[in-house]
Amino acid sequence: MTKISTEIKAEVKSQAQDLLNFIDASPSPWHAVDSVAKLLKENGFKPLIENQPWQFKKNGRYYVVRDGASIIAFVIGNQALADTGFRIVGAHTDSPGLRLKPKAAFSSQGIAQLGVEVYGGPILATFTDRDLSLAGRVMVREGDSYVARHVQFNSSIVRLPNLAIHMNREVNDKGLVLNKQTGLPLIFGFAADTAEAHAQLTNALAKELAVEAADIITWDLSVYDTQKGSFWGLNEEFIANSQLDNLASCHAAISALLSNKKPDSTSICALFDHEEVGSESATGASGSFMSDVITRICASTNTSSSTSAEDRLRALANSFFVSADMAHAYHPNHASSYEPCHHALVNQGPVIKTNANQRYSTNAETAARFIQLCQKAEVPYQQYAHRTDLGCGSTIGPILAAQLGIASIDVGNPMWAMHSIRESAGVLDHSYMIAVLKELFKS
Ligand SMILES: [Zn+2]
Repeated sequence: MTKISTEIKAEVKSQAQDLLNFIDASPSPWHAVDSVAKLLKENGFKPLIENQPWQFKKNGRYYVVRDGASIIAFVIGNQALADTGFRIVGAHTDSPGLRLKPKAAFSSQGIAQLGVEVYGGPILATFTDRDLSLAGRVMVREGDSYVARHVQFNSSIVRLPNLAIHMNREVNDKGLVLNKQTGLPLIFGFAADTAEAHAQLTNALAKELAVEAADIITWDLSVYDTQKGSFWGLNEEFIANSQLDNLASCHAAISALLSNKKPDSTSICALFDHEEVGSESATGASGSFMSDVITRICASTNTSSSTSAEDRLRALANSFFVSADMAHAYHPNHASSYEPCHHALVNQGPVIKTNANQRYSTNAETAARFIQLCQKAEVPYQQYAHRTDLGCGSTIGPILAAQLGIASIDVGNPMWAMHSIRESAGVLDHSYMIAVLKELFKS
């Protein structure tokens, strides 16, 4: 049995605190991209717009946002692109949960409620009895046009109360089952009818954004938990927050990129929306965003277009892609749910995820490459395989590996309660992941 180190240095704790603050400031994927862009700007990254021409300088730092919730940041390398290729970390900005329907508000027996859709695969029972609120983006009329405004209600304005055990006697034996249409509408107040409920929601959004209610056109609104992130455990060696999957990987990737002042290879962090719903969208990893950015970096770092086509392929052949997404930590109360030889332990380092059916992009060669990066960074690592008789999840790893045809690996930090509204992970692991991704960008 390996001895689990519980010593947490101040610097390591402060990296975990930064992560908790980052998540607290990012209650929706749109806010997450805002938080990332803010960090990038503070560190000298220049924003690029997709419909404008792009030009780069050696060691120049840039980022581009597509449709508000996906962002790609990169640092141009010192060396010729074709010779060194890209070092890429990919992660996702979205988390499973509840999203408001377009005509969400209604009145039920005088109680004002909001209809929601289930986004991805959350553990629905964890959304009950929590101090929930709303955050996202609202399209606001401006003359003949409109602008996207990000909104976050700070107080807990909505809730999903449980049914009392007296009306649900089997809840502890059979688990909480919520019908997705009838069991999930949130309560937010009282309203005589649906028109009044709708007006109350629109007025609240208008007040929050300091605009006229009549100017609110449409919205994308997520339900979020107002409880802030916390440390827990006797030695505060664990963290809890919502959206650790996968804002923890986004934060680790960006932290590593920021430390990377003059890389030899062009370094990229690509953070995508829509991973939790299959990545098939203009902004998701299956879309063209990644290859569009790579094409434009290749085009702008070459002088003739004929060289560019050849060099793009040489650059891709020299590249390495790390798909960073959280992994399943061993839970001692549920030993039989895990593959007995592949327990990933919290605070024991990044997990290399392997699946023979290519649900993960890892192979022996890319695993060896990552293990060597861990060794250089003096970071422990673990290897994970899912139980053979259980369906395995997937990530953006295989999608981008197939799209770009580059050497790829799936890794992630171990966590408990994946897709709960309150997930847990290890303080040490976050700092380990930052350290190994720094090593990747140095390679
Ligand atoms: Zn994930």
